[in-house]
Amino acid sequence: MTTAVPSLPELVAATKATLEKIAAEYTPAVLASSLAAEDMVLTDLILRNQLQDRIGIFTLETGRLHAETLGMLDRIKQTYDYDVTPYRPQPDAVAAYVKQNGLNAFYDSVEMRKECCRIRKIEPLNRALAGNRAWITGQRRAQSLTRAELHVQEQDEAHGMVKFNPLADWSEQDVWDYIRSNKVPYNPLHDKGYPSIGCEPCTRAIQPGEDVRAGRWWWENPESKECGLHVVDGKLVRIKPAAQQSI
Ligand code: SF4
Repeated sequence: MTTAVPSLPELVAATKATLEKIAAEYTPAVLASSLAAEDMVLTDLILRNQLQDRIGIFTLETGRLHAETLGMLDRIKQTYDYDVTPYRPQPDAVAAYVKQNGLNAFYDSVEMRKECCRIRKIEPLNRALAGNRAWITGQRRAQSLTRAELHVQEQDEAHGMVKFNPLADWSEQDVWDYIRSNKVPYNPLHDKGYPSIGCEPCTRAIQPGEDVRAGRWWWENPESKECGLHVVDGKLVRIKPAAQQSI
């Protein structure tokens, strides 16, 4: 028996219903936005439906983002009159890492990369999530091997709250159809071969046909490619074909 693929209007209706459920039953809640296409769909749906009083939006401003990504903060302000909250790493921790290891030590080993992600992403994420009942991500099931079993609603034991992935069922085409039909602002890097955008030194453009996350930490084994931002059964998800995960 085959399962019918939902249409974009059906996906939008389901996602809107999920966001309204979060706003009604899980506040305070926050969207962790990477300012990439998926998160702009959710940003648009939150702000278009005036849910921002109950669902906040923050981004991890790691200090290593592309200028185009940072520029999205102004574009969101111009389009929606909304200020996304930036969470930045602790300056002392960044300074100590750079002094001891060098500015770009994340290229040297997976351990050095994870330590940089811990300082610039995980610690600020934990701060951003503190005090909330739920958090929201723009992850999609089709994005990569490590996201194959993503659910719309999960229990995030590590953070002690519910995690929602309202776009879990969306395809990349659905995301872009929504963005274009609703004139949602998006990161111009997406037009330059960057389907997935992270920190500038750790992201590169991909070639047609490559996996959408192939440009993230491209020098590492694909199975290592997560920030540690997403957790399954109390463990940080690094690999595993059947695991959920990240920004
Ligand atoms: S993605 Fe790269 S620059 Fe950004 S926090 Fe991780 S290792 Fe550091």
